[in-house]
Amino acid sequence: MVAAEMGIARCAKIPTWFGVGGGADAFLTLANADELGRLIATHPDLKIVGDGANLLVDDEGVGELVVSLAGDAAWSIDAKHGLVSAAAGSNLPKLINACVREGLAGLEVLAGIPASVGGALVMNAGGGFGQIADVVERVHGFDRTGSPVTLTRDQIDFAYRHSGLEHLLLTRAELRLTPGDQKAIRARQVEIMAYKSQSQPMAANSAGCVWKNPTLAADLRDIGAASTRVSAGMLIDRAGLKGLGVGGASISPRHANFVVTQGNACARHVIDLMRETRARVFDAFGVRLEPEVVIWRRGGVGLDAEPSAGRGA
Ligand SMILES: Cc1cc2nc3c(=O)[nH]c(=O)nc-3n(C[C@H](O)[C@H](O)[C@H](O)COP(=O)(O)OP(=O)(O)OC[C@H]3O[C@@H](n4cnc5c(N)ncnc54)[C@H](O)[C@@H]3O)c2cc1C
Repeated sequence: MVAAEMGIARCAKIPTWFGVGGGADAFLTLANADELGRLIATHPDLKIVGDGANLLVDDEGVGELVVSLAGDAAWSIDAKHGLVSAAAGSNLPKLINACVREGLAGLEVLAGIPASVGGALVMNAGGGFGQIADVVERVHGFDRTGSPVTLTRDQIDFAYRHSGLEHLLLTRAELRLTPGDQKAIRARQVEIMAYKSQSQPMAANSAGCVWKNPTLAADLRDIGAASTRVSAGMLIDRAGLKGLGVGGASISPRHANFVVTQGNACARHVIDLMRETRARVFDAFGVRLEPEVVIWRRGGVGLDAEPSAGRGA
């Protein structure tokens, strides 16, 4: 048994912001993300959980080894040159605060997004103020044969809530920020946090937006023109679904793209509510919503339980 295998144990519930769902037959918190390379040999399908802020785990849990990198969460900041090197397990909000304190601009646009650095890279976390892709110089990790991989910004297929990095196991990222006026950067961070707090149910159990904003295939009257991206929340709202609930899961009255859970909620409630939402939005507008939230199920992934094809995603 390699050192990294020690400490693998069953976990009754994978920690996620939804607060629902099952566990992992095998779970490990690594103190050194470089050990991932060796773990791949014995666990080729291993999954990485970041902060669990964009993750729904089915009630039956998962059979693959689930690895948390929260034990390897260090970063270094070269404030003069705006260079940041952060472990994938680093907590993004804490990293943002550290960079703002150093007077570095670029990450404050992600204020209010709960994430690990690895999860933020894979999801290309962001919104109306910017996205993490804007500051990425290089990422490091392993491929699924256990070989080390380094990709520069231009080798990464960043797009709206997409990176193409989900097949890799990320261990570290180098970011380039811009030295600037510390007070102004802090003010911008506060402003963005205030905007998010008033428009989103930040304190509720959720995974943020559960749907990607769709691109319209054809003109849609009073909604948008063909080839434009429109707000999934707006479509859900216009379909009259705010407040719709299944068991302990419901569509937030504050932001229609947020599913919030409470009390007796289980993952099945969230999945059934998402399927109902997708069907009703399709009936109303002919637009098929695609999940933004990552869904892990025993033997599959996604809302329709597609086979995971050994990719760990
Ligand atoms: C209140 C709230 C507000 C939110 N607001 C926003 C927002 O404004 N914009 C936005 O984009 N998102 C938002 N989100 C969603 C979430 O914060 C982001 O998607 C975030 O990037 C998820 O990161 P994570 O570390 O929690 O990833 P997880 O949810 O743990 O995992 C997501 C995916 O990333 C993979 N992954 C994680 N780490 C690694 C790694 N090191 N290597 C390879 N794969 C990895 C996982 O396997 C999984 O497939 C919000 C969520 C909440 C709860």
